[in-house]
Amino acid sequence: MPELPEVETVRRSLRPVVGQRIEAVEISEPRLRRRIHDDFAHALIGRTVASIDRRGKYLLFRLSDGRCLLAHLGMSGALLLQSRGVAARPHDHVRLQLSGGQQLTFNDPRRFGLLRVGTESEFAELRNVGPDPSSDAMSLDQLVRLARGRKRPVKNLLMDQRALGGIGNIYANEILFRAGIRPGRQSRRLTRRELTALLHAIRSVLRSAIRLGGSSISDYRDSEGRPGYFQLHLRVYDRAGHPCARCQTPIRRVVHAGRSSFYCPRCQK
Ligand SMILES: [Zn+2]
Repeated sequence: MPELPEVETVRRSLRPVVGQRIEAVEISEPRLRRRIHDDFAHALIGRTVASIDRRGKYLLFRLSDGRCLLAHLGMSGALLLQSRGVAARPHDHVRLQLSGGQQLTFNDPRRFGLLRVGTESEFAELRNVGPDPSSDAMSLDQLVRLARGRKRPVKNLLMDQRALGGIGNIYANEILFRAGIRPGRQSRRLTRRELTALLHAIRSVLRSAIRLGGSSISDYRDSEGRPGYFQLHLRVYDRAGHPCARCQTPIRRVVHAGRSSFYCPRCQK
């Protein structure tokens, strides 16, 4: 499932869309997570994409009329910039024909993705998106407040989309390894020093994943021609029983609320 770094990588890969006008909209399957509104094509045709922003895992295409196209990739969605006239592939649900001779295609086998047009304030989805954990926008004091606020394991805090937007299970595990903190620790009990390490780990793991994605996305496509969610250099995620990269102790796996957590029992306290 795409997490924040993948969505940011998609955003960067779509920069050529900025400045282009949407000339036509083709919808072959409107039934996504929410049904695409009947007015969708009408609201987009003739508009120019002024910029593309990201809020958590949502992409916001700002349009020349002040409205936005909101996109979420769900479990398996991809936004592809292709030459116009490329034959449609299975699961290509929406295609936007652009003035520069390209098309923006939304492909999503599992159809948990989302596409809608409106003003930013209309999007209820964005009201609950927390501060961007990959930017400097989140301060240590904010993280301390979040950690002390509710009784819960630190991994749940990291994955709470209202507290911090965009971190999923893979990055939560990798961040906690980098910070030297076990996933099941109560966030309230973390010291200020541990939270400082956690903040650094959040930024460095997300930023290095974004850097890695940016360098690989332009030339990598999977068998269906979709951009690859780059091979991350994972230290703990899905490595149960393998030696820790730092100390050789076997990585452990535990299950909390149906989600797997991975950690090194020696490096993480
Ligand atoms: Zn270790």
